[in-house]
Amino acid sequence: MAPTKDNLSAVLYGINDLRLEQRPIPVPKDNQVLLQMEVVGICGSDVHYLVSGRCGPFVVEKPMVIGHEASGTVIQLGKDVKNLKLGDRVAIEPGVPCRLCHYCKTGIYHLCKDLFFCATPPDDGNLSRYYVHDADFCWKLPDNMSLEEGAIMEPLSVGVHACKRANIKIGDVCLITGAGPIGLVTLLSAKAMGASKIVITDVLDVKLKMAKQLGADYTLKIEKNMTEEQIVKKVHELLGQEPNVSFDCTGVESCVRVCVSSTGLAGVVVLVGLGKIEMTLPLTNALIKEVDVRGVFRYCNDYPTSIEMVSSGRVNVKPLVTHHYTLEDSLKAFHTAKTQEGDPIKVLIHANPNWKPS
Ligand code: NAD
Ligand code: ZN
Repeated sequence: MAPTKDNLSAVLYGINDLRLEQRPIPVPKDNQVLLQMEVVGICGSDVHYLVSGRCGPFVVEKPMVIGHEASGTVIQLGKDVKNLKLGDRVAIEPGVPCRLCHYCKTGIYHLCKDLFFCATPPDDGNLSRYYVHDADFCWKLPDNMSLEEGAIMEPLSVGVHACKRANIKIGDVCLITGAGPIGLVTLLSAKAMGASKIVITDVLDVKLKMAKQLGADYTLKIEKNMTEEQIVKKVHELLGQEPNVSFDCTGVESCVRVCVSSTGLAGVVVLVGLGKIEMTLPLTNALIKEVDVRGVFRYCNDYPTSIEMVSSGRVNVKPLVTHHYTLEDSLKAFHTAKTQEGDPIKVLIHANPNWKPS
């Protein structure tokens, strides 16, 4: 299939300045494929770039195509591509490492210092009609998976990676703080990997309702006047014991403190939420309990696991999808993600002009 001339792309120029404009259709290098972009989800980091021009240390300094949670269809192959064929539907892993450095060679390629990552300045993302990507970072979707599920493999892989970092296994008892998309994919992954009891917290009822629907055993609404001690006590009461694994999926200091204080002896605290650079934590408490505190940065070798989990029916990500927009309506899609009007979880943008709402 030959591309048309239309490569409408969503380009972030600066704070609250997202524009739709035509960009040249890229040409794949020998190891790349040209993709008809299909579905692109909006992530919290995309919204950060839109409203503040930055996310953590990354600052938008020149116009950047937004979008990195995506699926596409292969429409052109570079001459060296062997793992894909025309028409393959793929989930796009947005981080492409150098493949040469110490980190790449020892298998932790997501920590490569020379990583290309879609929609992390200065790298362009893929909220456009057409996009080229290295073929070995495109994962073919099985026939029983949709392109929408393909786009959700990106956040799901964060949850999978968090659970692999914690070595989640059958019988584990978990606390998850925060029931946003990342808390929810962590919940889904932990359940699929065998966790037997999970309590998840949030400040919003609507998030906890979804968590319950997705399999949380217990939910805990955090009220403004609750002390950390009260929260820890409630977590232990609900689980009937101390969690052996806690995941912070908020980045909020008090939540990380609750994770460290709640976790039982020789347990693990996994930091997924990206909060402020410095926090005050009860680390001596962790020391005495021999609790390990582990970081999570995106994912590494996790896309195949995510795809298997969904394809095999062990995980259902469909309830996460709450809103659909066309590429032309990208600004409206970002408005929904930004204002949280209509209680969105995953807002999806359909980049293929032939997409019809079902
Ligand atoms: P989100 O903002 O949608 O979700 C955070 C949730 O935490 C919200 O539902 C919010 O109501 C809840 N919350 C806020 N304060 C709380 C409190 N005191 N107690 C309990 N819940 C509280 O964000 P998200 O997209 O789900 O992402 C979560 C975090 O993970 C963010 O910090 C994001 O930057 C980070 N993240 C990290 C990685 C990584 O690789 N480590 C990848 C993606 C996202
Ligand atoms: Zn590298």
